[in-house]
This record gives sequence, structure tokens and C-alpha cells, in this order.
Amino acid sequence: MIIILFGAPGVGKGTIAVRLSVEMGMVHVSTGDILREELAKKTDVGEKVREFLDSGLLVPDDIVLDLLKKKMGRDRGRGFVFDGFPRTVDQAKELDGLAAECGQEISHVFNIVVPEDIVVKRLCSRRICPKCGAIYNTEFKPPKKDMVCDVCGSGLVHRSDDRDEVIRVRLHEYGKKTRAVLEYYEKRKLVSQLSGVDGEELFRRISPLVGK
Ligand code: AMP
Repeated sequence: MIIILFGAPGVGKGTIAVRLSVEMGMVHVSTGDILREELAKKTDVGEKVREFLDSGLLVPDDIVLDLLKKKMGRDRGRGFVFDGFPRTVDQAKELDGLAAECGQEISHVFNIVVPEDIVVKRLCSRRICPKCGAIYNTEFKPPKKDMVCDVCGSGLVHRSDDRDEVIRVRLHEYGKKTRAVLEYYEKRKLVSQLSGVDGEELFRRISPLVGK
């Protein structure tokens, strides 16, 4: 089974992806996390993608697809929850081939929608745990101890692209390139539209749809 969580930055894809993958024993694939890992490890790929991540622009398809193929190859035979991928129609087309190679099928595309003013507020106050992926929010869901992860005790980080100017670019990129991907899946009748304003409610609505 392949589940695609779709929506602008800040709608809550990451939080839902972590929960779904844990509860369903599926592999969580966040291309954003994979790219940030390359950056942190200062690999050649990391150096190539730095300017894109810093500015909020999409990383070229060939780089993202190379990393994705490696990840899917390592976890062959398992189901996947995609978060932040595919972001272009070419990525979506490539995913069709990769899914077939893995003997998997795209079963659900959840388009999560949140009004833009809420998204911007959420992203500015978002803090993440680089170790276990837990996501906090200084306003709505603060950690018990300032900047420390409740789950694993690591120091939390404020992503450098979760700042007002870069957020605007990311939302613009989403509108320009990523919405077309939704149409690609709508034609195949795979898309369910869900509100992401209330995260708990969103999880309650998605669970039965994926057979949980
Ligand atoms: P995210 O963590 O999903 O918000 O992604 C953070 C940044 O990583 C984006 O602003 C892009 O620069 C890059 N990125 C993540 N996923 C993709 C993708 N599928 N295609 C192109 N760029 C991506």
C-alpha cells in the first residue's frame, strides 16, 4: 500500500505521516527529511541542494528521484507513507514506475487543506526534533521543557526555512508546481479532501479510510 499525504507546507502532513507509519508498520518517506539529512552530513548532494532548501525552491527532480530510489530500494516489500513527495507531475509519473517495481499500488491520496494564515502562523512557531521527528509548536503544542523533545530528550530545532520570507516562497512553489500533481491523481479518483485545522480530528478521519 502507498499512501500519499498531500498539501501545502504546514498543513500537518508530517505529524500524520509519523503516526500512520508507526501504527500501520509502514515506512515514512519525507523527501524534505532525506534532503535535510544530506545537508547535515555535508555530502556532495547536500551541498548541491543547500541553496534550494535555504530559499524554499523545489530541488531538481533528478536529485530527489535518485535519493528516493535508494530509500525505496532499502525498504522494498513494505508499504510507504509519502509526505512531501511527489511535488511535480514528473515525480508523480516516476513514482508510478517505482511503485510497480516494488509490487505496490497507490491506494490513497489525502489532500489536507488549511487556510493560509493558519499555515503561516503554524510554520513560524514550529519546532522539530531532528532525532525522532516529533513536531512541536511553541504556541499550540509546546514541549514540556523549553526546546527539548518530550519523546527522546534531544534538543529541538527551528528549521531555517520556517521563517516568514521563505515560507512565502514555499507556498508559492506549492501553488505553481505542486497543485498540478493533485489533478494527476484526481483523474484517477484517488483523492480525498480533508481539513487539517484540527490534527486529532484529521487523524480520526484518515484512520478508517486506510483500514485502521
Ligand atoms: P518539506 O520538509 O517537505 O517542507 O521540504 C523542505 C524543502 O525540501 C522544500 O522547500 C524543497 O526545497 C525540498 N523538497 C522536499 N521534498 C521535495 C520534492 N519532492 N521535490 C523537490 N523539492 C523537495
